[in-house]
Amino acid sequence: MDLTRKQLREMQTLLEELKVSLSDLLAKTEVGSQPVKLKDNAGRLSRMDEMHNQSILIANRTVIKNRLIQVGLAQQRIEDGSYGYCTRCDEPIAMLRLQASPEAPRCIQCQSLTEVDA
Ligand SMILES: [Zn+2]
Repeated sequence: MDLTRKQLREMQTLLEELKVSLSDLLAKTEVGSQPVKLKDNAGRLSRMDEMHNQSILIANRTVIKNRLIQVGLAQQRIEDGSYGYCTRCDEPIAMLRLQASPEAPRCIQCQSLTEVDA
């Protein structure tokens, strides 16, 4: 099934919105990812907590950055007309999947196959 012009426009809008909100999220978490500052009165445990929270934040930022890259690639695929087809098996990606994650480069079957080394 080919995507209709209307569906493509819908995906373009979704991708653009996703790009804006992901960039926004990155900007908002910028300050939090600075190196941990030692507080005079901070005990050993709370410092560990802080470092732990920070490592989660950095991991999330990595996820967000990777997603932004995927969004950009999806926008390129819209440009060159290959959008909506799995980059691995060339089968159409289910519309429901695209609506849930418009940047998805692979169909659900291929995604589950490649999840381990993604
Ligand atoms: Zn596939």
